[in-house]
Amino acid sequence: MMQRLSVRGWEIDHDRVATWEAYQRSGPTGPEKCGCLYCRNFVAARAVAYPPALRELSVKLGLESPRESETWEYGPEPGQDRLYGGFFHIIGSLVKAAESTDGEPFLFSPRKNLLPAGFPRDPILQVEFHFRVPWVLQEAPTDVATT
Ligand SMILES: [Zn+2]
Repeated sequence: MMQRLSVRGWEIDHDRVATWEAYQRSGPTGPEKCGCLYCRNFVAARAVAYPPALRELSVKLGLESPRESETWEYGPEPGQDRLYGGFFHIIGSLVKAAESTDGEPFLFSPRKNLLPAGFPRDPILQVEFHFRVPWVLQEAPTDVATT
């Protein structure tokens, strides 16, 4: 059942239960599916790294807990942090876009990049984000010199 949601200037219609079911059907996605060093760090740091607004949103949208269709790493930030980008999918459609996404923790897009197998083709929204993630693995990132 589609429900209307207003969040940070956006208005969307989404189906929480259908989204949840689509993820159940999809098996591992995103960093769990990839398993490379950077993805393993993302998974290990997920509990502390997610911005609260994005965590709340993903649960509201029907993800049992935050998960992604895809994540990637941009490179080092000051301190121990790395900048990551990513997105996840939901079953829903856009009603009204926010006027500005500057400095916002996420945005909704009509793209369907790497749509997980358990999802129908329509209606789909892609929730895109980027945020800093601490490096928590024992193993160092590959661009850090070890002496
Ligand atoms: Zn990876």
